[in-house]
Amino acid sequence: MLVKTVTLDLSEGLEGIHRNLGNPDYHGSRFLVTGGAGFLGTWLCSFLVNQGADVLCLDNLSSGLRENFSRLEKNPRFSFILHDISEPIHFRQNIDYVFHLASRASPLEFDKFPLEIIRANTLGTMHALDIATEHGARLLFTSTSEVYGNAGIFPTPETYLGNVHTLGIRGCYDESKRMGEALCLAYLREKGTDVRIARIFNTYGPLMRADGVYGRVIPRFISQALNGEPMTIFGDGSQTRSFCYVTDQVEGLLRLLYSDSAKGEAVNIGNDKELAILSLAELIRSATGSSSEFNFEPLPEDDPVRRWPDISKAMRLLQWRPKVNIETGIASMIQKG
Ligand code: UDP
Repeated sequence: MLVKTVTLDLSEGLEGIHRNLGNPDYHGSRFLVTGGAGFLGTWLCSFLVNQGADVLCLDNLSSGLRENFSRLEKNPRFSFILHDISEPIHFRQNIDYVFHLASRASPLEFDKFPLEIIRANTLGTMHALDIATEHGARLLFTSTSEVYGNAGIFPTPETYLGNVHTLGIRGCYDESKRMGEALCLAYLREKGTDVRIARIFNTYGPLMRADGVYGRVIPRFISQALNGEPMTIFGDGSQTRSFCYVTDQVEGLLRLLYSDSAKGEAVNIGNDKELAILSLAELIRSATGSSSEFNFEPLPEDDPVRRWPDISKAMRLLQWRPKVNIETGIASMIQKG
């Protein structure tokens, strides 16, 4: 098996985020990260602990993995709380910032766990907002490009109001994230809670799961290619996504959290390079040196035809733009296996 250029690893990635943020000081701040054992949550918790922050990582381990942060558990600034945020919880310690990430996010899970997903994004969001309100903390809610559904404007700006199939298989995720956004604004209007919303577009990187219902397209393709298995392309592969590397995403989330002008705003955080799934499969096959065949399988219901963010708001408001290209990002995952 041939593995091409590898230029990133986890610690380099974390240091890069810190540099890009202008080396801010996190000492003395306490963060609550719901969904902290998931892919993005682990990156965020690792970054924050490394920078000297105190981190409460809350997760019910439904799709997150405790082994993701086994190294962090030795750090006195890090605590893991096994809890489902769709049940209320109170903290005696001060909390300065809340990242509310908790929710299953893989389309293959939407079919199996729709109620759990709705609970996490509605009840869970209310509980996270209650904590932020009680502590006077600032909250960032991770919403999704799925609030746009099968979008009709490209690149899609935040002002696009969406085209979502409420009764379809993705409805549980799309509509509960939309409700989560509405809840954030309701808390801001009625209780003055300091909220901001990230609409996250497809994000990938090391630690992302490839297995079972958790597997998203990039880790699935990499794992299939490395194992010489057929690569499962849904539909004809002409549907597009725009893939954001995890360090770029984490930097965008932190900039959004710290921006004073982002209160009550929803901001697209994603990469603005659009790629067809078939081209992605070709890229991964060539980067792994694999001779896997392509297996064309039926396109899942309501699979969006195109997904491509307009990131001009993030560029203007947060002085942020993604830096890692897809070739480099994929190479970093091949190294990790
Ligand atoms: N996809 C695919 N093969 C797979 C997994 C996904 O062709 O084994 C396609 C899927 O149909 C979608 C895109 O890749 O068009 C991205 O899928 P993913 O599950 O990563 O997330 P989504 O963007 O659909 O939320």
